[in-house]
Amino acid sequence: MSLIFSAADMLPKIRLFEYQEESMKGETIAAISTAVSSSGIGIVRISGDQAFEIADRVYRSPKGKKKLSEQQSHTVHYGYICDGDEVLDEVLVVLMRAPRSFTAEDTVEIDCHGGVYAIQRVLEAVIKNGAAPAEPGEFTKRAFLNGRLDLSQAEAVMDVIQSKSELALSNSMSQLRGSIKNRIQKLREVILEDVAYLEAALDDPEHISLDSFDETIEGHVRALLKDTNHLLENCNNGRIMKEGIQTVIVGKPNVGKSSLLNCLLRENRAIVTNIPGTTRDTLEEDIVIGNILLHLIDTAGIRETENEIESIGIKKTKESLEKADFVIIVLDSSKELSKEDYEILDLCKNSTGVVLVNKSDLQQTLSMQEIRNLSGKDVISFSAAKGDGLDELESYIKRQFIESKIEEKDDLYITNARQKEALVQTKDSLEKVLESIELGMPEDLYAIDLTNAYESLGKIIGETLEEDIINKIFKDFCMGK
Ligand code: GDP
Repeated sequence: MSLIFSAADMLPKIRLFEYQEESMKGETIAAISTAVSSSGIGIVRISGDQAFEIADRVYRSPKGKKKLSEQQSHTVHYGYICDGDEVLDEVLVVLMRAPRSFTAEDTVEIDCHGGVYAIQRVLEAVIKNGAAPAEPGEFTKRAFLNGRLDLSQAEAVMDVIQSKSELALSNSMSQLRGSIKNRIQKLREVILEDVAYLEAALDDPEHISLDSFDETIEGHVRALLKDTNHLLENCNNGRIMKEGIQTVIVGKPNVGKSSLLNCLLRENRAIVTNIPGTTRDTLEEDIVIGNILLHLIDTAGIRETENEIESIGIKKTKESLEKADFVIIVLDSSKELSKEDYEILDLCKNSTGVVLVNKSDLQQTLSMQEIRNLSGKDVISFSAAKGDGLDELESYIKRQFIESKIEEKDDLYITNARQKEALVQTKDSLEKVLESIELGMPEDLYAIDLTNAYESLGKIIGETLEEDIINKIFKDFCMGK
């Protein structure tokens, strides 16, 4: 008898089927899929078996044409949406029959006039006539359950919506097109073949030999680990692509931090005054440089003080520094360095960043070379008052992040914390396999770790996740998506 369980027993029951069935016979759902605001148009989306019948009940054709349910798929129909005898809106209705729709179910989209009240009345009429209000993310969840998207693609849908820069968008779009799915599936195939071979050999040792199989597996696992580690290393760049470079501006009061922020934003967002310590709290703003987002945090000056409000600001500065990808240290070049400046330079000594010697338009006291030696960082001469040095600063940031780190656009950048966690678990399991091989453990032992790695990778694409986790993921989606 085999020492190990059969692969089918060890691999988690893929529960997708149960979901699929549940989803297929589930209710027909409806929601407003556009922002509820005074816009030109707004869309009410209906998805499910009853979508066409429900649409028939609320729709009137001006010329008494055929019912919507008798029309061809992928056609558009002009008409009215009514609640009983009351005409609610003049609309265009788009029909999509299963499986050629986003959810892979029968889908009707009603293009209404925008505005808050009219579109809500249309949705109410649809619900009154048999649809259930959709949960946030329920359309995408159905697309996933119906096999239209894997989980990494479903999550990419949300990322596409939330993209704030070109790099973030192109990364999410590539994931939506299946870049994660394809890569992960390839890794899983290698593991599955090894587990299947192991199982067969342990079942039938007379005919299938495990001689030198350790070496084969070791080679495979090392390659898998290399890939997994590469994906994990890329996660930080993925986060930067998605959320932007967390950039903290630090400096003692009055050196020109708020002026720099304004200069970067090209608008007067921060209050600039010449009384030390007026930027009491941190100010946060997003700007796009090149094709990447810079998330700017202007901190209160780092300064020992009795003033409680300012102390809170200082604490926040220290906290911001811990999370920063990039630090811009601002010094006043017209004055000698003070104790506070030295403290700031010391506090930032392990951070990636640049020093701006500001107020270059005034009589210069500081030497750029000295500051370079002292800080161990590159130094840029700057004038927030005149905007001098701004181009140099922007090019510097682009060089630091885009050109040196995120240049290989075709590479895979995982941005999702859940997916990253699954990669960490995969790495742990693969390392255990190597350990077992090195210690000469029996094959059935490391077959379990191999299977765990297979399962962890499965979590990324949603093949080995529990129902409640899947529900939780889709709950974070926006309404109507
Ligand atoms: P913060 O306390 O570090 O945020 O400094 P602010 O941005 O509020 O600037 C303090 C004072 O320095 C203000 O009066 C600014 O107008 C002035 N200032 C800022 N940058 C420059 C600069 O490049 N040149 C000159 N001459 N003055 C500047």
